[in-house]
Amino acid sequence: DVVIELDHVRVSFGDTTAVHDASLKLHKGEILGVIGFSGAGKSTLVRTLNLLQTPSAGRVRVLEKTIFDDGTVIKPRELRALRRRVGMIFQGFNLLNQSSIADNIAFALRHSELSESDIEQRVRHLLELVHLEEYANAYPAQLSGGQKQRVAIARALANNPEVLLSDESTSALDPQTTIQILDLLKDLNRRLGVTVVLITHEMDAVKRICDRIIVMEHGELVERGALRDVVLHP
Ligand code: ADP
Ligand code: ADP
Repeated sequence: DVVIELDHVRVSFGDTTAVHDASLKLHKGEILGVIGFSGAGKSTLVRTLNLLQTPSAGRVRVLEKTIFDDGTVIKPRELRALRRRVGMIFQGFNLLNQSSIADNIAFALRHSELSESDIEQRVRHLLELVHLEEYANAYPAQLSGGQKQRVAIARALANNPEVLLSDESTSALDPQTTIQILDLLKDLNRRLGVTVVLITHEMDAVKRICDRIIVMEHGELVERGALRDVVLHP
């Protein structure tokens, strides 16, 4: 079962083409690594999967829905539904500093059908998933970088998404914390069956947890396949 399918996707910003003719298929439960140097187009490519970035041409199918087809984008209501099924985490965590950890996670559930007590229970469960049950009432400033990223992961998983996009989510972390976050992503992938797309410029990260990898260079997918086949050209 294919969960993500890109067909000849191009993304241009005026005269700059950030992504050239990208085609790609991703199956349920896979962890795909997207690797390449800064400016290669990784972020732009992955942002087309939840339409944070609208392509210029091609076709994007996510979770059996065509979300972009040669200039046509799905309706706003469908887009909101899609974004609940495709969670995303970033390098900068993007937490609300004036809100408690529990409220940061509950925020993602405010537009769901859940009652207040169901939200509370769901938040507790999510905190357990990322091993932060002790921190419900803490504030972001009291947490380490790795802990903040775990809050962001819990928030991204709040609506039980089938896909999780990670854009350089470990780049601000030290090597040991990076390993903890990568292992947590792998663990969540196994336990929840969530398909993961992991953007990184670190080969060690993809080696550790990815099933498959694509290498981007100057907007092109230059290599794809199993890890042992992949080389990063300087
Ligand atoms: P990466 O994630 O591999 O670092 P990006 O996808 O962020 O690469 O960027 C690829 C190229 O597209 C870069 O040249 C970047 O400057 C350009 N780019 C990305 N987003 C925009 C934008 N919103 N407007 C103009 N150019 C952009
Ligand atoms: P990252 O380091 O995660 O790739 P960037 O700093 O490249 O992020 O980009 C941050 C934001 O700025 C993104 O929304 C991206 O689309 C936009 N952006 C990147 N490059 C350009 C550019 N050359 N012109 C305009 N916007 C850009």
